[in-house]
This record gives sequence, C-alpha cells and structure tokens, in this order.
Amino acid sequence: MKLQNKIALITGGGRGIGRAVAHAFAKEGAHVAVAARSEEQVARVARELAEQFQVQAIAIACDVSDATSVKAMFAKLQEAFGRGPDILVNNAGIAESALLTRTDDELWRRILGINLDGTFYCMRAALPQMIERGWGRVINMASIAGKTGAPYIAAYSASKHGVLGLTRSASQEVASKGITVNAICPGYVDTDMTTGAVEIITNKTSLTRDQALDSLKKMSPQNRLITAEEVAALALLLASEEGRGINGQAINIDGGGVLF
Ligand code: NDP
Repeated sequence: MKLQNKIALITGGGRGIGRAVAHAFAKEGAHVAVAARSEEQVARVARELAEQFQVQAIAIACDVSDATSVKAMFAKLQEAFGRGPDILVNNAGIAESALLTRTDDELWRRILGINLDGTFYCMRAALPQMIERGWGRVINMASIAGKTGAPYIAAYSASKHGVLGLTRSASQEVASKGITVNAICPGYVDTDMTTGAVEIITNKTSLTRDQALDSLKKMSPQNRLITAEEVAALALLLASEEGRGINGQAINIDGGGVLF
C-alpha cells in the first residue's frame, strides 16, 4: 500500500480525472476527501471509495474559486480527519473557449477564478500543516495548454500557464521540507470535458461528432485520447514515497505531442 493512512484532498473529485485519482489513491490505502460544487457527484464517489477500498472517504461541497468556501472545506477536513491533507490534488477546472477578442470579463474571471485562484487558495491553506509535519505532496492538474497556445483558449491557456508558475515557485519554497509540488500536463483526456469540446466543434463547424473527436485524437502522435486512469497512475507516482525526488516539474502525458 503506497499511501497507507495518508489523507488526500482531491478537488474536482466528482467525475473524470479527479474521480480516477480518488480511486487510485484509495486503492493504495489513502483516506480521501473529494470536493466539487455538485454535491451528489462527490457523495457518490465517496460512497464508492468507502465500499470498494474500506478507507475513510468524505465528500465536501466546495467552490474552489471562492476563498471562503475553500476555508470551510479545510475546516471540514480538519473536523473529519483531525488534520489537513498530506496530499493535495488541485484538479478542479473548467474549459470554455472563445476568441480572445470575444472573451468578456465574466468568462476571463470564471476561468482564472476556478483554474488559477482555486489552485492558489488550496495550496495556501494546505502547505502550512505539510511544512509543520515535514511531509507533503501537491499535485496540480495543469494541461499541455499550460505550455503552448492555441486559438480560442487564451483564458484557459493563461490559467494553466499560471498554474505552472505557482507550481514551480512553490516547489522551491518547500523543497527542503519534505514536500514536493508538481504539475501534470495532460493532452485530451477521455472525460466529460473533452465530450464538451467535441460538442463545441460539432456546433461551430460542419464536422460530425466522430470527425470532431478524430480531430482531437490527431493532436496526439498516438492518435488517441489519454484515459483518466493513465493520469491517475502518474498522480499516484507523484504522491508516493518513490516520487519524492520529482519536484517542481510539469510532466506531459499527451502521447508525445508536446516535447518540452
Ligand atoms: P471534468 O469536467 O470531467 O471534471 C471537472 C471537475 O472539476 C468536476 O468534478 C467539477 O465538478 C469540478 N469543478 C469545476 N469547477 C469547480 C469549482 N469551481 N469548484 C470545485 N470543483 C469544480 O473535467 P476533467 O476531469 O477532464 O478535468 C480535470 C482537470 O484536468 C481540469 O483541471 C482540466 O483543466 C484538466 N485537464 C483536462 C483535460 C481533458 O482533456 N479532459 C486535458 C488537460 C487538462 P463541479 O462542476 O460539480 O464543481
């Protein structure tokens, strides 16, 4: 058991990549808190974990873009487990697309608020106890869009570039304290988020759903989507003792499309 008795907080744990990470961690003995805005999704995942892996699992309703909501989430964690998380996975995120010239203030704030502010709020809340205990793992779900740019995703890409900046700087602040801070940069993953992207392409172009999906697959030299379980396996490595030497990295998992 690689994460026996560790406490993990996974934001956006109600579906997709976050749910897969929660399963992978619980399977290795971690007690898990899953958080998102949709209460019933996180409640379902917490039930799955408790039943399948006999770990303590709790669901927390939280909007990570709201600092007060994040504070309340950490208070609930403290109440349930008697301490803050040993492992924090900042996975909550949204992707909406628009040309930069059509990106209004609301869209910009919504994306930056969840993807970047949310990551910052959770790191700021989690790190002090990790520093005190001399052990911790922070895993930030960025994207290859955190390293590259493309039309229609200026706000999303800016938010994920920001996550990499946060990751790199924080990793230097805590490197000597038994804590690692890393980012995962997936290409297109087979989740609801990618289904949403396919829908947008289908609505805005003459492509069929299959053609739209193929166009996303082709962005990877492996001509396929990454699975949520593959991303979870990488998160597990970063969370585990074996991963302790990996710090400040932004690791691509995209079939080899982005080479830096
Ligand atoms: P999903 O849309 O399937 O899941 C996103 C999760 O984040 C949901 O649980 C959602 O729950 C939660 N979430 C969204 N907004 C908030 C919020 N304000 N507060 C708390 N939770 C929130 O997406 P994926 O699983 O595909 O994506 C997970 C992460 O991986 C994201 O950060 C995404 O940017 C990143 N990523 C995804 C890729 C992909 O192709 N799918 C590629 C590269 C990166 P709820 O809406 O109920 O709050």
